Amino acid sequence: MSNRHPLKVGLTGGIGSGKSAAASLFAALGVDVVDSDVVARQVVEPGEAALDEIALRFGPEILLASGELNRRALREIIFNDPEQKRWLEALLHPLIRARTVQALDSSSSAYVILVSPLLFESGQDALVDTVVVVDVDEAHQLDRTSARDEVDARQVRSIMATQLAAEARRARADYLIDNRGDLGALESQVASLHRKLLALAQMREKGAE
Ligand code: ADP
Repeated sequence: MSNRHPLKVGLTGGIGSGKSAAASLFAALGVDVVDSDVVARQVVEPGEAALDEIALRFGPEILLASGELNRRALREIIFNDPEQKRWLEALLHPLIRARTVQALDSSSSAYVILVSPLLFESGQDALVDTVVVVDVDEAHQLDRTSARDEVDARQVRSIMATQLAAEARRARADYLIDNRGDLGALESQVASLHRKLLALAQMREKGAE
């Protein structure tokens, strides 16, 4: 009997480490990529039950004229009120988890990647079989993030403070990508990791037969 579900690979790293860049390179090799940030937005799209519950609790002011969630207003509420934050997390986390599992399980590529900035912090590492960490030094993180987002070093540092320290993340990696080099160096590491992950996926298929 063959294994119904593909090998699931978590891909994480600090802000500006190059997760998205690495994920695009895997995608270009034909690997399905599920993005945890995208899933988190999908569960509160108009038409989703969760958005109705949020509007019931916080009033229609929490919606934009388009009917979409006013994320900034919601962020402000939960930033100032831990109880509301807990309520929101209790609502959204199980939905995000279920949708992530569904997206991963419905992939038909040789293996599937879950890219998440907070893979360990959110416990989503439990949803994957193996973990790739994209690693860079802090100077690169600051430079690349501020070039991408027009934020300053202080803002990047405050986001970094909500994320696991690089060393703790590295310690939990099954595979490491060193992204201190140029994009060519990233691409060749992704290509070599892709071969390893294909082999792992194949071994797993055989084991399940
Ligand atoms: P993350 O998704 O981890 O926050 P990104 O993949 O968006 O990080 O990378 C941050 C920025 O740095 C992006 O603009 C990206 O194009 C750039 N970048 C990523 N890796 C490299 C690299 N090896 N060399 C140069 N620029 C890079």
